[in-house]
Amino acid sequence: MAELMNQRGTTICRGCECVTLVSILNLGEQPLPAEYGNSHKDNLDKFPLNISICSKCGLGQLGEYVLPDRIFHKNYPYLSSASSTWVSHAKNYCTKMIKRLRLTRKDLVVEIASNDGYLLSQFKKKNIPVLGVEPASNVAEISENLGIITINSFFGKDLARDMLKKYNFPKLIVANNVLAHIPDIQDFMSGISILTNEDTIITVENPSFSKLLENTLFDTIYHEHYSYLSAHSVSEIAKKNGLQLIHVEQLSTHGGSNRYWLARSGEADFTVKKTMISEINNGLFDKNTWTLFSKRVNESISEFREWLLEKKKNGDVVVGYGAAHKGNTFLNAVGEASKYLTYVVDASKEKQGKFLPGSGIPVIAPEQLGLCNPTDVLILPWNLATEISKNIRRMLPNARIWIAQPKLLNI
Ligand SMILES: [Zn+2]
Repeated sequence: MAELMNQRGTTICRGCECVTLVSILNLGEQPLPAEYGNSHKDNLDKFPLNISICSKCGLGQLGEYVLPDRIFHKNYPYLSSASSTWVSHAKNYCTKMIKRLRLTRKDLVVEIASNDGYLLSQFKKKNIPVLGVEPASNVAEISENLGIITINSFFGKDLARDMLKKYNFPKLIVANNVLAHIPDIQDFMSGISILTNEDTIITVENPSFSKLLENTLFDTIYHEHYSYLSAHSVSEIAKKNGLQLIHVEQLSTHGGSNRYWLARSGEADFTVKKTMISEINNGLFDKNTWTLFSKRVNESISEFREWLLEKKKNGDVVVGYGAAHKGNTFLNAVGEASKYLTYVVDASKEKQGKFLPGSGIPVIAPEQLGLCNPTDVLILPWNLATEISKNIRRMLPNARIWIAQPKLLNI
């Protein structure tokens, strides 16, 4: 089995298990995005980062991969509640689902990868029973402290069977931004299927691979994202595990995500067909689209490198805002020139005083944003640019604010 797993993503598709993979982008060897250095020269382990696509089911996937217990360890530094954008996204979702599914205090909402409880706490406030599953123990503990029962474990079919010994079938299962983080995607979906009866609705949110290709969002490729999903591949993986894709909502999060609705039975509605047609029209299965994507990635990296060198020549001081994972992929792809970012500020205390993996740029607190009188601030988590740019304008009214993705832009 271990041997078979190793081939998945290199020769065998993790979604449909066919030998139909085509390599589309190689980002070289990169450190893990959540492993921060203790000095600017810290020699962190690096691993190959390359992505293939399955020409049969359209699933994007990393080739060789790093095992999840190395990545999602007990001190995983990402807290969803740190972003007001995410909290408000969760509130809206909760209000909508309570109404749509007529959830009551007799029902159960389960969230897989419940992080610090930012979403489940919204249901709890409305007296809906909740249960979280979260593998990172430091994050699970925060959630427990909010009064949310949280199983501190990775999710798969074994855990799902154990859960049913103690809890009823949930009315709603939420899996946001987690399906991509699981190397054995079949075991994960099989676990979800075990927890599902005829009344259960599952919603799965993930960035759209079709949008990634269309808008050249290559910085969302990192070691934690084993898979890059689309309506085609989600439907394929669901079917293999006795579930149907019945509805798709398009969301603006992460540069274009989809919320997939799955159920034990039911017909795909027009949103599923519409999304699948648009994926085909956007070139999800077209070799030429993949080649052009790779070409645009290289152009985008070169353009940013030149921009930084030009800034340096002019004596401008460029700093970063938000030590996001996507920023690390981007800066490591840019290479040497990324050192012209004097520092990066980030609200997460776990990251402050450390150094970005690979690029070695120091991370300091947002209150110190004015430290070297920056002329230019680059927002690395461009998906949160609206929220972050307000903070920057308040602190540095004269600085120019930039995002580097989907393209280099002064905002
Ligand atoms: Zn496939």
